[in-house]
Amino acid sequence: MDYQGVLEEIARDVAPLIGSGEPAAYIPALADVDPKRFGMAVADLDGNVYGVGDWRTPFSAQSITKVFTLALVLAHGGDSVWEHVGREPSGNPFNSLVQLEYENGIPRNPFINAGALVVTDRLQTWTGDASSELLEFLRRESGNPELAFNAEVAGSESEHGDRNAALAHFMASYGNIANPVPALLDHYFWQCSIETSCADLALAARFLARHGLLADGSRLLTRSEAKQVNAVMLTCGTYDAAGEFAYRVGLPGKSGVGGGIVAVVPGQCTLCVWSPGLDERGNSVAGVAALDRFTTLTGLSVF
Ligand code: GLN
Repeated sequence: MDYQGVLEEIARDVAPLIGSGEPAAYIPALADVDPKRFGMAVADLDGNVYGVGDWRTPFSAQSITKVFTLALVLAHGGDSVWEHVGREPSGNPFNSLVQLEYENGIPRNPFINAGALVVTDRLQTWTGDASSELLEFLRRESGNPELAFNAEVAGSESEHGDRNAALAHFMASYGNIANPVPALLDHYFWQCSIETSCADLALAARFLARHGLLADGSRLLTRSEAKQVNAVMLTCGTYDAAGEFAYRVGLPGKSGVGGGIVAVVPGQCTLCVWSPGLDERGNSVAGVAALDRFTTLTGLSVF
């Protein structure tokens, strides 16, 4: 497969869309990013990386980190996480509160904010330092020891974090959060603030295309767990647009409000695309279009 040629064709095709949509403004530190940025990378199973545009430029990983915390929690505690969080699409915005009360403080899935708070809480219980565990994992699997938290972004999220605080306290009232809420929120905001490039994330997500095997050949997840994470990404990874994303792209994918999206072709490769302009559901406009083009041009999809 000529990944490089495909990426260059995609960059030409989506050029008119770059700059469409709006960067996330509810986190002030993210609002200033240049909406004209676009990068895309593909990593194959052996760790070769191909890229186009701003594929080596760091951006705020945000909710993409939710995939990695889920994988780490599954690796530590197996199925026990599913007592605390569901696996159904929410059909609601990623920061919605409404379903939580009807469903007794058990969030619909690990990829909306409420679900991710529960998963980070589990990781905190397993490791005592959830955000550092995640950062170390991403450094190892991307092969980039320079990956770091962005203190300005974490601070900005914390200052404007009333919604996430409300979600966490509400779930704590149902007994679904084990750690003190302020400490949990800090780990969650640090986790979201990690800066990574398309190349870093495509490499770090490779275990999902390698059926659970890490870069060094050791196993993080069983084959079955890797399938489960990919399945939940497909059905829930782009919030209330997951149906549309599956229809257009046909791959497991996870987006973040930094404008990045990671996608997986099991047994073949991983992808990461970044462009900061978001649609009204919080997914990168040019990013979704680029992944849509990728599966059309290559025929690589899970369907
Ligand atoms: N840090 C963001 C938040 O908690 C993550 C949301 C996202 O990327 N969808 O609101």
